[in-house]
Amino acid sequence: VPTIVFTGEVSEAVREEVLSKKVIDYLLKEGRHNIDYLIKLIRRVYKNKGIKVLVVDDSGLFRARVADLLKVHRYTVYQANNGIEALGALNEHPDIRLVITDYNMPGMDGLRLVNEIRKTCGSEQIGIIGISGDSLLSAKFMKHGANDFLSKDFFPEELYCRVNQNIELLERIAEIKEASNKDFLTGLYNRRYFYEVGGKLFENSKRKNLTVTVAMIDIDFFKRINDAYGHDAGDRVLAGIASILQKRFRASDVVSRLGGEEFCVLAVNMDRESVEGVFNSLREKIEETEIMTEKGAIRASVSIGVCTELLSDLDEMIKKADRMLYRAKEGGRNRVVIS
Ligand code: GH3
Ligand code: MG
Ligand code: MG
Repeated sequence: VPTIVFTGEVSEAVREEVLSKKVIDYLLKEGRHNIDYLIKLIRRVYKNKGIKVLVVDDSGLFRARVADLLKVHRYTVYQANNGIEALGALNEHPDIRLVITDYNMPGMDGLRLVNEIRKTCGSEQIGIIGISGDSLLSAKFMKHGANDFLSKDFFPEELYCRVNQNIELLERIAEIKEASNKDFLTGLYNRRYFYEVGGKLFENSKRKNLTVTVAMIDIDFFKRINDAYGHDAGDRVLAGIASILQKRFRASDVVSRLGGEEFCVLAVNMDRESVEGVFNSLREKIEETEIMTEKGAIRASVSIGVCTELLSDLDEMIKKADRMLYRAKEGGRNRVVIS
């Protein structure tokens, strides 16, 4: 059972005894700010279980000390003997969030390890804490791309403080990134992200001679749904249709909400022969689905315009798909038109 000690007094003797029992932390019963700290700490420890940390040092003793301390805070810990082993571990577990590395190791030292990691992963993806006995090395670690450093004779409190702060910073950055790439209502990618990632995907697919399919999807008479059931129910319908779209396409496809009640899908490597079937069955699925709202079950249909010709750039393909969408609307809605 993970334990936190709450005490009226923190003397050196109390601190030593408490730490020897492998408690998560000790804190003073002083006032409100301690309670805030406690709540934050409990949240942190719950989250830590899913967070992987790699400890790199050629000294088994030192590794074990750091790993033991991290395990008290419930981190999932991996260990490596030197830089080369560390790269292997990172390859095997790409979701490692933090690397704590020594400098002096046979095979590949800590600075070279930092260099190697930074070739592919920025400091916002994987945090690195360099451990060293001299301050000049600490500075070097930072200049090579480490996020932070720790002196070799650290106190447990220092390790926890550094590790927790770095993990929290990475989490914040990830949250902000996610929020800036996604549409809040539907959870789909937003327009900005669609153009950013879609452009790259398009160029990549073109080079590899893969097919590119762009589809514009627009809800039919959506204004009437808003008028009849209210804006909140309309929002539910948008989210419901977005979730059908999300499930229908591969993770490698980009499904986005371009704005209002208009969605765009960029699918790579979809067989020409299956395009019609895919979008028609999507259309049918949406037409059949009853979306539950506070105003009752609502059904909606969509019109879909698809461009399957590989044009000069993504923008041209979107424009073409949009023209096909217009034709689908003109032709009576709830239909698919393919260029
Ligand atoms: P059409 O079949 O021609 O596409 O008709 P439509 O009514 O769907 O198209 P129109 O462009 O006239 O209306 C779109 C409506 O979508 C108007 C707007 O109020 C509504 N809308 C846009 N964004 C949102 C949103 O985030 N939530 C809700 N509830 N409604 C939205
Ligand atoms: Mg519409
Ligand atoms: Mg529209």
